[in-house]
Parts: sequence; structure tokens; C-alpha cells
Amino acid sequence: MNIHEYQAKRLLSGFGVPVPHGAVALDPSGIAAAIKEAAGPVWVVKAQIHAGGRGKAGGVKVCKSAEDATREAKAMFGRTLVTPQTGPGGKVVNRVYIERGSDIARELYCGMVVDRGTGRVAIMASTEGGVEIEQVAHDTPEKIITVTIDPASGFQAFHARKLAFRLGLQGDALKQAPGFFRALYTAFTQSDASLMEINPLVVTTAGALIALDAKLNFDSNALYRHKEIVELRDESEEDPMELEASRHELNYIKLDGDIGCMVNGAGLAMATMDIIQLNGSAPANFLDVGGGATRERVIAAFKIILSDPNVKGILVNIFGGIMRCDIIAEGIIAAAREIGIKVPLVVRLAGTNVEKANELLSNSGLTLIAANDLGDAAKKIVKAVKEGRA
Ligand code: GDP
Ligand code: MG
Repeated sequence: MNIHEYQAKRLLSGFGVPVPHGAVALDPSGIAAAIKEAAGPVWVVKAQIHAGGRGKAGGVKVCKSAEDATREAKAMFGRTLVTPQTGPGGKVVNRVYIERGSDIARELYCGMVVDRGTGRVAIMASTEGGVEIEQVAHDTPEKIITVTIDPASGFQAFHARKLAFRLGLQGDALKQAPGFFRALYTAFTQSDASLMEINPLVVTTAGALIALDAKLNFDSNALYRHKEIVELRDESEEDPMELEASRHELNYIKLDGDIGCMVNGAGLAMATMDIIQLNGSAPANFLDVGGGATRERVIAAFKIILSDPNVKGILVNIFGGIMRCDIIAEGIIAAAREIGIKVPLVVRLAGTNVEKANELLSNSGLTLIAANDLGDAAKKIVKAVKEGRA
């Protein structure tokens, strides 16, 4: 789960990470109070969207007067920002953060991730902050240093020294470094984050370390123990179809291909996606309806698949273990009656109650293509979609 920059800064601040003083405006009527709270003499007006790269897209404005900041904040609401992270459609700005401007001497980078390779939290830092870190990693990987933290002993002073030394921190900034990095690490682990990015981490002209930007992702499997983080969810930032799927407890991820998949079990769903690719086409989604899906959930899954305009055909691939094939068949039939399925539909069912399911389907009057096994099913749907296009 993602949260906004202003929420991430508030969370980090609670762990003792220094951030600029600011306030959010949830609609234009909140601008005046936020400007007053930030209190200048320089204001930074920042679009709040779940994507980075806002600066270059005009989503971060440094203003020298309250009037300027007011104008920029008003103009920011409702704008669509297109950044390398939003996709070509961009994201509409619904919230604006206004904070006190900082005098920047240096822009550094600090990131944290759970590194699967080492099974530890990896802290990455670079002197090349502010710019796109992906570019730095690609062109000059030697400019990124990585420190991994042993979970048993936790963050130690020598980790901080190594980071501070390699970042070339001096004077006051050097003195603050251990407290700063420790606070970041504590915030990361205590909130079950999966990714944290402070870009830029700035050294001010007065020698203070500040998190000037903050991005936090959380491990969704751990959200049950962070009610306060779940409350920060902004559903308007999420893909509408993925949101609808999560309401029905469906594991759905939208992809770029044109064959919609409805499968039970994550492993079978992956195999189904692979075999579609093997046959020369591409899946429109990953969708695991789960083991104990109800008829209603199957209908919801069908609706979600069909609401994607890219879907030119559907492959249902169910192995009935706990899941009963007849429940799936009932769902397919009900969905077809309710919304109509105008694209080719290939169904491969195997396992529990498969005979009953096949009987239901053949008596339903539904036009569908039956398949015997996974290979057969993939060939048939790819062929049907190609013929439909021709
Ligand atoms: P992003 O583009 O979405 O990553 O947004 P950031 O919050 O990182 O801001 C982009 C850039 O705006 C930063 O790298 C800074 O150069 C600049 N910026 C942000 N806040 C301030 C500020 O308080 N003072 C000054 N002078 N520049 C700022
Ligand atoms: Mg940034």
C-alpha cells in the first residue's frame, strides 16, 4: 500500500526524522490555512499524487510570497500531472501540500528496501540525490552505496558512520547523521514498510539534515497490525479495477495484453499467463479467484475482467480442489446473463464436480469453447482472439 508524501512525512516525523514544517489542503478552501501554517518566508507548493517525478512535471513550485503560493496552490488542484511513474494518462491532483521552503546546500539520496537476496533491510545512499536515482544506478552504479542491516543486532553506529562518510557529511550534518539514519530505520521496520525513499535528503545551508521528499510503501500482509496506516489509504489514487477486486477479495492485477484470465490459485494463474505467452499472445490480467470463491465472487471477477476494454477474449482455467467446478459454472452463466459476454470464451475445468459443471454449461445455451487441458485451452483462446481480430 502507498501513501502520500505529506502522510509519509508525518509518520517519519513521529519517529524523530526532521521534515519541513507544512500542512495539507484537501480542497481549495484549505489553502489559506495551510499557507498560514507553513508561514514562509518561502513556501513550497507540492502536488500530492502517488507518483514521483512531480518536480519536472510542474508539481512542485517554490514561491517567494504567500500570494504566489496561493495562486500556485489554486492552479495545482484538478491538474493532471504526467510523470514517468504515472503512466501516459497521468494523475489528477486532489490534495496539495504546502510547506516552508528550505535552503538547500546539497541534495542526497537515501532508500531502504527489504532485500530478498540477503533477507535483510538494505539501506542505499548516494551523493546524487534529487535526480532520478534509476539513472544514477544505470550510468554510475559506483555512486550508490549499500549497507545491509542484520535484523538480530539492528542498526548500529558503524552503519551510520559508513553512510555519513560515503555521503561526505561534515560538521553539524555529520553529528546528526546517526540519529537521522537510526530514526529512518526504526520508522521503516516498526511500520512494516517494504520500501522507503528519501529523495532528496538535503543538507541545508545551516548544516541540518532534512527529509525533503518521502515515499513509503507498506507490506500489505502486515497491514492488519497498523490500523493507523490503513486509515491513510487514498482510494482515489488506486486503479479502479484493482480496488473493486480487493473489495471482493480477489487477487487481481491489470496487465497489458488482450486475453482476460480467470484462474484459481496463484501458481495456476502464473502458469496460465505463461502458456498464453508461449502461444504468442499476452494476458490482460492476473486473477486468482481463490480457493473458496462463491458464485457472487465469480460474477464480480467476470465483471472486472470485462470492464477492461483491452480484453478480446477470456480464458477460464479452474482446477477444482476446494473450489467446486459447478460454482464456477454457475458464476459464468449468471455473469453472462447479467452483463453479456461478447468476446470468445474458452473454459477448461477439471476436478471436483466437473461433470455437473459441464452439464450446467451445456444446458445454459451459452456460446463457449470447451477445452480439455491447459495447452489446448491456451491454443484455442489465442486462435479465437486472432480470428476475431481478422
Ligand atoms: P519529486 O519531483 O516528485 O521527487 O518531488 P520532490 O519533493 O523531490 O521535489 C523536487 C525538487 O524540488 C527537489 O529535488 C528540490 O530541488 C526542489 N525542492 C523541493 N522542496 C524545496 C525547497 O524547500 N526549497 C528549494 N529550494 N527547492 C525545493
Ligand atoms: Mg523526490
